Amino acid sequence: MEEKRIKVALARDLLQKNKTFASDLRSRFARQGLTVINLLGSPGAGKTALLEASLPLLCRHYRVGVIEGDLYTSRDAERLARSGAAVIQINTEGACHLDAQLVGGVLEELPELDLLIIENVGNLVCPVGFDLGEDARAVVLSISEGDDKPEKYPQTFRTADVVILSKLDLLPYVSYDLPAVTATLAQLNPVASLIQLSATKESGLTPWLLWVKSVVAKKRGGAEGCHRVCK
Ligand code: MG
Ligand code: ZN
Repeated sequence: MEEKRIKVALARDLLQKNKTFASDLRSRFARQGLTVINLLGSPGAGKTALLEASLPLLCRHYRVGVIEGDLYTSRDAERLARSGAAVIQINTEGACHLDAQLVGGVLEELPELDLLIIENVGNLVCPVGFDLGEDARAVVLSISEGDDKPEKYPQTFRTADVVILSKLDLLPYVSYDLPAVTATLAQLNPVASLIQLSATKESGLTPWLLWVKSVVAKKRGGAEGCHRVCK
């Protein structure tokens, strides 16, 4: 019992420490006029594939950087380095989420940017509790994960500003109750928009690109220079 109480106290302390670091990051991003998006989702949901498809288009409008959070490898960072964005890898050495201190530790390695996308460690559980000083949260949910994920991990979907339903091209091949998932998401989070796309087929990307642009525009106080859709 005592040990459990100590663990709970430690976890609270860790979250409190993160809040302080995140608040410092948010002030720093505000000073720099930098828009930051925290990208969450299960391993294999298609977070990196979404970035692979959209970074070349976003790079036409913004100076884009990516922080790539992974447990060990730099495979995803290598995939994204070809896009024209500045990519920094954080290996968490087994830790299952990024925290604000880790993010703060690599910012110096990035050039001056307009937009920073942080691809979190693939995990639908604990990244949700760790604010990274972001302006918006995007959660990727794929058809291949099965249709029960929003109900099983409601907190992640509750805190999302946008949910991206990815790998839509697989829908004809799997048993997936799309109307039920849409209804669950609407119930969990009535304000988040739902975007359905297939990154590898480059289909349905436009609403996602427009959403990213709207986040940048909001950060800039509505002074958005470019209203063009990328494609
Ligand atoms: Mg990835
Ligand atoms: Zn974790």
